[in-house]
Amino acid sequence: MDKEQFINKIKEFNIDITDNMLKQLEMYYELLIKWNEKINLTAITEKKEVYLKHFYDSLTLCRVIDLSKEKTLCDIGTGAGFPGIVLKICFPHLKVTLVDALQKRITFLEEVISKLNLQNIECIHIRAEEYAKENRDIFDVVTARAVAKLNVLLEYSLPLVKPGKYFIALKGNEDISLAKNALKILNSEVIKEDKFTLPIENSNRTIIKIKRLGNISLKYPRKNTEIKKKPL
Ligand code: SAM
Repeated sequence: MDKEQFINKIKEFNIDITDNMLKQLEMYYELLIKWNEKINLTAITEKKEVYLKHFYDSLTLCRVIDLSKEKTLCDIGTGAGFPGIVLKICFPHLKVTLVDALQKRITFLEEVISKLNLQNIECIHIRAEEYAKENRDIFDVVTARAVAKLNVLLEYSLPLVKPGKYFIALKGNEDISLAKNALKILNSEVIKEDKFTLPIENSNRTIIKIKRLGNISLKYPRKNTEIKKKPL
C-alpha cells in the first residue's frame, strides 16, 4: 500500500489526516526500521508493507468505534506501538497509555514519543494483568492486537475498562465461542464481530468489540501463573 492508497483508504474511517500526521507516520516508519536493526520489533520492514500491515491495519479499529468521541485509550501488549501509536497520531486528542512487558520495546516507544513530539501519551513497562490490578475502571477504550487468546486477553483487559465502555480486540481468525465463560465471569458481552479482509493482500481479520456491562469481581485479573494454569 503506497502512501496515496493509504490516504485514500483511511477516508472510509473519517480520519482527517493532516500533513503533520503524515510526516509523523513517516518519521515513525524510519525510527522503526532503524531500531529494528538493533532490537527485534517487527518482521515487516518494506515500506508499503508497513503502511498496510501496521499503519492501515491499526486504523481498522475505527470500523467499530468513532474514536473522535472517546477520551482515553489503553493499548496492551503494544510491542512496537501497534495500534496505539498510530491511533495517537491520527486522533491526537486521545490520552493514550501503552503497556508492554518488554523493556526494550518501551525504550523504543519513548524515543518515538519524543521524536514525534507526541503529547498526552505514556508508556509503561509492566504486565497487563499487573497494571489492570491497580488501574481498574479508568479507560473508555482498551485495545490489543496479537497479544493472547481472547479468553486470556479479556481477563487482562476488561478490569481496565470503565463500566459501559469497550474492549476491542484486533485479531486474524478467532473463534469467539471459546471466550463465552470469560465474558460471563467478567460481566461483559460481545456487541460486534466484524470480519473482513485486508485490502491488497486479502488476509483475514476479525475485530471483536466487547462492552463491559458492570462490576467485575476484585478477584480478576488473577496472577499470570494462575491465568496460565487455569484460563477462564
Ligand atoms: N500489538 C503489537 C502488534 O500487533 O504489532 C505487538 C504484538 S507482539 C506479537 C505481542 C506483544 O505483547 C509483545 O511485545 C509482548 O511483550 C507483549 N505482551 C504479551 N503478553 C503481555 C502481558 N501479559 N502484558 C504486557 N505485554 C504483554
